[in-house]
Amino acid sequence: MLINLTLSDIAQACNGELVGDDCEINAVVTDTRKITSGCIFVAIKGERFDGHDYVTQAIDGGALAVVSERDVDVQNYVKVSNTTLAYGAIARLVRDAFKGEVVCITGSNGKTTVKDWLAQSLSNKNVLKTRANLNNQIGVPQTLLELEENHQVAVIEAGTSFTGEIPLLAKIAHPDIVILTNASGSHFEGLGDLGSIAKEKGALISGSSSAASVILNADDEYFDYWCGLAGDRNVYSFGFTAAASLYASEIVLGAESSSALFHYDGEALPVTIAGAGKHQIANGMAVVLAMLILGIDFKQATDKLAAPVLVSGRLERLKAKNGALIINDCYNASPKSVEAAIDVLSMQSVEETWLILGALGELGEQRDAIHYGLGEYARDKGISYLICVGPVAKVAGVAFRDKGGNAIFCETHNEAATVVRPLDKKHAILVKGSRSAKMENVIEALIN
Ligand code: ATP
Ligand code: MG
Repeated sequence: MLINLTLSDIAQACNGELVGDDCEINAVVTDTRKITSGCIFVAIKGERFDGHDYVTQAIDGGALAVVSERDVDVQNYVKVSNTTLAYGAIARLVRDAFKGEVVCITGSNGKTTVKDWLAQSLSNKNVLKTRANLNNQIGVPQTLLELEENHQVAVIEAGTSFTGEIPLLAKIAHPDIVILTNASGSHFEGLGDLGSIAKEKGALISGSSSAASVILNADDEYFDYWCGLAGDRNVYSFGFTAAASLYASEIVLGAESSSALFHYDGEALPVTIAGAGKHQIANGMAVVLAMLILGIDFKQATDKLAAPVLVSGRLERLKAKNGALIINDCYNASPKSVEAAIDVLSMQSVEETWLILGALGELGEQRDAIHYGLGEYARDKGISYLICVGPVAKVAGVAFRDKGGNAIFCETHNEAATVVRPLDKKHAILVKGSRSAKMENVIEALIN
């Protein structure tokens, strides 16, 4: 975390009451499995769990204090009326200590695409971004609380599933740069008619810093409305007509990429945009505008769009706490994609390569034969260790052993994470399995 906080700072930010003594905490945790010594535990009520049931466990694990909605039998705690709101208010304290830029993205579509594309395009900066799709009242604070001294930019996705959520997220993230991709009547959004959706998304503009830059879609029917909300803030627009600050012409759409001429400030550049569809060109223009605002020149910014968006969970390279390289490919798995990912793992220049494999789903009666084949494949490719999670993946481990390799059988994600947790930078760990195998739990356990 960027700064240490005192309980009195926290009580003040949350309109809460400090019970007991003031002290300084060094981390904010909502999950008892992530408790570290010196942290504060925020007891959040979720759909399935109530954090208040874990207060004693948190203190026993090393938490110095608790944020709670009730009186609790703990020496020091902050009593608040709503712990979820308190979590956001604490994150805002950390956000306010951050000297870099906070970019916040909302809209009906394209949020994750723009977020990931922008973060990867800012390759010469140290970027913190929302992991996966953690874009709600828990995910936004969680991400901001991960800010560290060396970060220069935070790229945050803000989603909404109820009216009033975006205003809350805006208050937490207080963006320096807002990107609003569009408003569309997605039936998944229980927000009412299109006007209500536009209003909800627009709250990110009203809640941004008074000196913020606001990136808007000039072709959206709510563009003028959002410009009104921006007031004196700097508005940058993107679109497909010359009225926008950045616009695209000469569009040629292809199956995997498109080309266009991007016009900005009297200059025009030919651009290759990775990804299919006109909407991807719009996303790309939003990314370029954010890069321009962050001081990158037009040519360098547009060149970045030729690289496909790296999607979280698809051969995503991460670092474990102890320094090992993690290759996160747990978005999904087919037999072919497991082989391809094993190929990537085997090419890493490290002393040992580890594969953590969860089950592949929907294989019918081929299931065991395919898993067995994958175990053999991993062994043939020289993978050092194979960890199998669960009974279905176990068959791969049997094959790996049959060919003389070292296989380890685990029942749970946590067990697998525990085995590899000590590994340092001399190791690479590929984590893979079908969507249903939820192998991202292993990643979570290794990173946090
Ligand atoms: P969610 O609300 O689930 O977080 P999101 O806004 O993050 O969604 P993405 O995950 O980036 O959206 O994209 C989801 C899908 O929406 C894409 O696969 C694509 O089909 C479509 N899409 C992406 N960008 C746009 C856009 N600018 N306009 C319309 N559709 C888009
Ligand atoms: Mg998303």
